[in-house]
Amino acid sequence: MDLNARELLDKLNTEHSLSLEEYQYLLDNRDQELMDLAAEYARGFQAKHYGKQVFIRGLIEFTNFCRNNCYYCGIRRDNRDCERYRLSEDAILECANLGYELGFRTIVLQGGEDMAYSDDDICNILKAIKAAHPDMVITLSIGERDRASYEAYFKAGARRFLLRHETANPKLYAKLHPAELSWQHRMDCLKDLKDIGYQVGAGFMVESPGQTSKDLAMDLKFIEEFKPDMCGIGPFISHKQTPFAKEDSGKADTTLFCLSLIRIIYPEVLLPATTALGTIDAKGREKGILAGANVLMPNLSPTNVRKKYTLYDNKICTGEETAECINCLKGRVSSIGYEIVVNAGNRAGFEK
Ligand code: SF4
Repeated sequence: MDLNARELLDKLNTEHSLSLEEYQYLLDNRDQELMDLAAEYARGFQAKHYGKQVFIRGLIEFTNFCRNNCYYCGIRRDNRDCERYRLSEDAILECANLGYELGFRTIVLQGGEDMAYSDDDICNILKAIKAAHPDMVITLSIGERDRASYEAYFKAGARRFLLRHETANPKLYAKLHPAELSWQHRMDCLKDLKDIGYQVGAGFMVESPGQTSKDLAMDLKFIEEFKPDMCGIGPFISHKQTPFAKEDSGKADTTLFCLSLIRIIYPEVLLPATTALGTIDAKGREKGILAGANVLMPNLSPTNVRKKYTLYDNKICTGEETAECINCLKGRVSSIGYEIVVNAGNRAGFEK
């Protein structure tokens, strides 16, 4: 193990902060021993704040229409081969009801930036779910909107919002997105969401095309400074109908190391072991939990639309019924000595 890297990891473990150059040094000089030690430190904080509990959130992918054209995304506007769908308010409510019956107390409504759902439509959906299940905590993941829209959704009952920042480096952002999309605007949205009172989820892709260790270090520094309540990271995985079809996918190891570092940087953070990690490595989600993650997000969408929501190729868990998915996840989680719990899954220390 590189002794300087070990020293930096120990410093991070006590101070929860490093300089950009120090983060980069850690990323550039990691070996298996260093990654194992980072995972051990991360598990220490995970145990302190969450014990052996793993939270689950039910994911409802309610539309795969999107006005945007991100170069890496399978449901981008210009993918003419993508079979599009939208779920009605009733269909979304049915998914939420099923989730409630199965024990979920928190769900995520996720979609592309589909402006066919007006703010009133989104608010009506939120109100209908809250009327049926007052104790259900609802997360939105519907992209960039005006502050006034975010405020209206909050008023209608949404309490969490996921908006991955994708990369903290504006130059890399410009290589991953067309010019019409603005890094600054995305960052402003994140600040607005936090300001309104949402529990906010940011996050980034690991080893996206052109990403350097300095870029990843910038992401870690951003997490340290912005302190999102949740941080969703997954390896970049190419999709055959995008401009990045031939790019190499990110590696599980790098993603696992980043998960551990994020847990050490912000010990209370909610950290999902993502489906992308489970796609790149058959045991990716178990390894993610052992690296410090504490959230899983099984799919609650109707089985007949799941294959249509493919942001990247070979996505797992698109065939099974939700109940089967949960049983499978319970088995995976208990095989490594953890347990799935039924609750709202707030960040440790979060005050309403
Ligand atoms: S990444 Fe999000 S905003 Fe970009 S095209 Fe895909 S769904 Fe749309």
